[in-house]
Amino acid sequence: MEKVLIFGHKNPDTDTITSSIVMANFENKLGGNAEACALGTPNKETQYVLDYLGIEAPRVLDSIPDGTNVILVDHNNPQESIENINELNILKVVDHHCIFLNTSYPLYYRAEPVGCTETILYKMYNEYGVEIDKKIATLMLSAILSDTLLFKSPTCTKQDVETAKELAKIAEVDYEVYGMEMLKAGTDLSSFTIEEILSLDAKKVDFKSTKAIVNQVNTASIPEVMAKKSELEQGIEKIIEEKDLDLFMLLITDIVNSNSQVIALGKDAHLVEKAYNVTLEDNTALLKGVVSRKKQVVPIMTDVAE
Ligand code: MN
Ligand code: MN
Repeated sequence: MEKVLIFGHKNPDTDTITSSIVMANFENKLGGNAEACALGTPNKETQYVLDYLGIEAPRVLDSIPDGTNVILVDHNNPQESIENINELNILKVVDHHCIFLNTSYPLYYRAEPVGCTETILYKMYNEYGVEIDKKIATLMLSAILSDTLLFKSPTCTKQDVETAKELAKIAEVDYEVYGMEMLKAGTDLSSFTIEEILSLDAKKVDFKSTKAIVNQVNTASIPEVMAKKSELEQGIEKIIEEKDLDLFMLLITDIVNSNSQVIALGKDAHLVEKAYNVTLEDNTALLKGVVSRKKQVVPIMTDVAE
């Protein structure tokens, strides 16, 4: 049987990595020949999950030949995927984002507006009668807790909460304690350079004619990250210059209190003031209750852009 490679988006997060592993297990249990791969190494939060379970990180793909059979999870936007995505043979997509992909052939495409890819995979396991063992349950649970920031993100749906609670029983973990430990593991920025912090979870987006990057960093303490503000600003200025951006937003998201401090630079930084009705002082403002880039940044910024 021809092999299929499964991967999520660049700058992989916990959902992307775990969904690749969980989807590969699903395919293999149903008689397939699948390998979980990734377009980057796991972040610290994801590494915490893999270490907890004693699982190796998926192989990182630099490039793959045209025509390779692939399954995409947790993304479908070619900008966030492998370079030759349009030359690959995409067999399936399981995702919870806006649809960008265009193919000239039919494929299995499953997208649902839930908070996490794993919530969809949980349903698929049940529909096909594939067993969810303790490891798979822990992987799925971790991703739901991560993508929904312990159910606090506005992207979180009732289905995500119910699924996570079921999974916590199989995984035999207290999801609140485990989830906070996992999120905190991801907030340790001590070993990163400024350049690394600024690219950890950076997404390129266009708000109409505004070329922007929105980067999000989770923390348990906003002041701790803000202590590096001037270095971060210097780094951001460099990126704006190099990539000819109109705006760079760094969201420093407080996972305990569910707020984000934004540092906004670039000629269109004023859009942030307009979108959130705040005043940027020294390039920064507190965005109360803002934790989700997908629901609370991209649509709102697109709305006020010209
Ligand atoms: Mn993701
Ligand atoms: Mn996701």
